[in-house]
Amino acid sequence: MIGEWYILLKTVKNRLRQGASFIKRDKPALLTFLFHSIFRNEEEISLNRIDPQQRITLDLYRDFLEYFLEAGYQFISPDDLSSGLEPSGRYVLSTFDDGYYNNHRVLPLLEEYRTPALFFITTHNVLANQCFWWDVLYRELSLKGAGRREISAVQKDYKKLSPAQIVNRLKNEFGQKAMNPTSDIDRPFTPDELASFAGEKYVYIGNHTSHHPLLDHCSAAVQREQMLACQRDLRHLLKMEPAVVSYPNGNYNRQTLRVARELGFAYGVTVDKRKNYLPLRDDDRLALGRYVLWGTKPVTMQGDIFRSDLTLSSRKKV
Ligand SMILES: [Zn+2]
Repeated sequence: MIGEWYILLKTVKNRLRQGASFIKRDKPALLTFLFHSIFRNEEEISLNRIDPQQRITLDLYRDFLEYFLEAGYQFISPDDLSSGLEPSGRYVLSTFDDGYYNNHRVLPLLEEYRTPALFFITTHNVLANQCFWWDVLYRELSLKGAGRREISAVQKDYKKLSPAQIVNRLKNEFGQKAMNPTSDIDRPFTPDELASFAGEKYVYIGNHTSHHPLLDHCSAAVQREQMLACQRDLRHLLKMEPAVVSYPNGNYNRQTLRVARELGFAYGVTVDKRKNYLPLRDDDRLALGRYVLWGTKPVTMQGDIFRSDLTLSSRKKV
């Protein structure tokens, strides 16, 4: 009963926020969005092979593209960012974190709508053909009958560990082969696949560190090594070095921004929920706000809320 009331209250709140966006919205801004896996359909999500995260299907991604194109937004690439955005423009930067092979499924949509997207790669997983740890945990605990909430609690606990500790613990608990992919849905790109994917017209590549640590839990030296190792790997794999970095889990602190600047990154993306108003301020470039879209709610409702200029969103203090 309390659960039902909570859902009702949340729906009412969202409808109010959506309605309010019609009063004041679409101030010139860059809206950045975060995706992870792309599922063919709901059926594939329900197989529980990986953590469904935001439950994004191909249909939902199509809705997302159509919604923002119809609203007059232009989808941009990191190159557009570098050459400078019009101060009066409205832009969307669509990003995918981690480097899932299933991301290749979005290519026909990028081509159909002529919209670029930026894919942030965790290079160690690509080089080692290793699953992402949160998926291993989700798969194994699902098999044991655990529900979403229970799994989230355990994942939260794992986040306190370093990447190496996480892998050790998973192998100890679920067997030495626990990190091995079981199908095309739960694996990262192979190096060859990534090279061919990166060569596609609408595909852009970014840095997501080499091992996906929570950077604000690391010393400045480790943060530097993680971002640098990823750059090195991408130079080796793709003959390029990205100008944009995505901080794993959106976690960052003052050192992260300093290290990213020192390493020469032009832009950094977080998961701070806010619009990036134009013109971009210099000290915002390495901490761009980014929205997360959910497959469980209509794109229209979420899009209307994100376009609103009434929501008071403040810059995270670091
Ligand atoms: Zn990530």
